[in-house]
Amino acid sequence: PALTSTEVRRRFLDFFEEKGHTIEPSASLVPHEDPTLLWINSGVATMKKYFDGRVIPENPRLANAQKSIRTNDIENVGRTTRHHTFFEMLGNFSIGDYFKKEAIEWAWEFLTSERWIGFDADRLSVTVHPEDDEAYQYWREIIGLPEERVIRLEENFWDIGQGPSGPNTEIFYDRGDAWGDDPRDPELYPGGENERYLEVWNLVFSQFNHNADDTYTPLPKKNIDTGMGLERLVTLVQDVPTNFDTDLFRPIIRKVEEVSGRTYGENEEQDIAFRLIADHVRTVSFSIGDGALPSNEGRGYILRRLLRRAVRYAGWLGQEEPFMHRLVGVVGEIMEDYYPEVREKQSFIERVVKTEEERFHETLNDGLKMLKQVTERARSKGETVISGKDVFRLYDTYGFPPDLTAEYVVDEGFAVDNEEFEVEMEAQRSRARAARKDSGSMQTQEALLTDIETTSTFVGYEHFDVETNVQ
Ligand code: ATP
Ligand code: MG
Ligand code: MG
Ligand code: MG
Repeated sequence: PALTSTEVRRRFLDFFEEKGHTIEPSASLVPHEDPTLLWINSGVATMKKYFDGRVIPENPRLANAQKSIRTNDIENVGRTTRHHTFFEMLGNFSIGDYFKKEAIEWAWEFLTSERWIGFDADRLSVTVHPEDDEAYQYWREIIGLPEERVIRLEENFWDIGQGPSGPNTEIFYDRGDAWGDDPRDPELYPGGENERYLEVWNLVFSQFNHNADDTYTPLPKKNIDTGMGLERLVTLVQDVPTNFDTDLFRPIIRKVEEVSGRTYGENEEQDIAFRLIADHVRTVSFSIGDGALPSNEGRGYILRRLLRRAVRYAGWLGQEEPFMHRLVGVVGEIMEDYYPEVREKQSFIERVVKTEEERFHETLNDGLKMLKQVTERARSKGETVISGKDVFRLYDTYGFPPDLTAEYVVDEGFAVDNEEFEVEMEAQRSRARAARKDSGSMQTQEALLTDIETTSTFVGYEHFDVETNVQ
């Protein structure tokens, strides 16, 4: 039988312990000492103090399994096989100790050795930065990969604004012809958007400091920072099509089936909702477990929007009552081996989620009242189209989701002026872009978040799967 997710996580930590690493426990999702970050979004985010030299670790070799939240991938969640807002990143780190050669050799050994993961080596290919001849040589000569499986890619440079940066190399697993075999498909190569080649592991070679004035200077001590998504690794180990089919998600999906009375796998639209809800409930549970609370700003606002977004997708499954809180228990159970916190705080988390769900249902009811006024006014004037301005105002001022507006308006026998709505949305986006420009080019977590709030596309009422905003 395939390894469980618990066993896969354990193997990773055991492997690097054998290689002389100290295992650090997962840190809280809420950053303690980093005002530039809303959430811990990678393993290395918790290691900044070592990477920038403020603290010298007892052992320069560290490894962890780190809870992470990324909202920049939100549009993908439920639609790709591999993206989450909450996921675990497995990482090994060298603080001025070993460098490229060991990082590459050990990643390869962990993935291909029968003792550890045991992947078929022929399925793996890698990308490197075009100027990183050193990494290229290691992959070709020490590991023995053929030329066509070491791909030079300009994007392989890790730079998140100020701080350590450098070239990286990524490891991809070929899931085979069933995932697409048209050689003319430009997306069909490691690093492309096709999911045949699943990106599993990113090895970052931090050799420069990205300074405040955007210059790069070599670091006195070079560091290794790697990150591998546990969920993806488990998908490959358990030989299932998506992360949502692994033991990390199946029990949540089953619980959603139970609560909603719908069946997963019957209808693609509905399945998106299943996956999105399963994803968001983990994020919501863990972030509340780590001390975040829904609110109107910063972290709490993200949490609120994620939860509201899940509630709206629950509508696709016919759920008109609060129900997300009923999923918290199963999240706690799945994760308790390594992360006991959700289990321990279960009743508190459930209460927070339920209260927030109830509030959102109220907002929706208020929005509906307003919508009623809009349609009644239109009807009394003999109009057949609801203006895009009205839809936008409901959305922008009252937080009423445009897809719900469209659904309601169509049911009432009206059409929506989508063009006008788009004009309003575009104006809002450019206002947001202008605001962002002022804050510099650094791609901080905040900038990524501004993006999700402004990239909503509303393509019309016949198409309900497009409102990708976090509400
Ligand atoms: P992708 O190209 O698939 O979006 P990425 O290149 O943005 O991934 P990295 O920043 O390199 O991801 O993160 C390191 C690793 O963490 C990835 O190789 C992947 O295994 C995992 N990972 C990254 N983002 C996510 C996510 N949103 N959900 C689940 N796993 C993720
Ligand atoms: Mg990504
Ligand atoms: Mg990538
Ligand atoms: Mg990557």
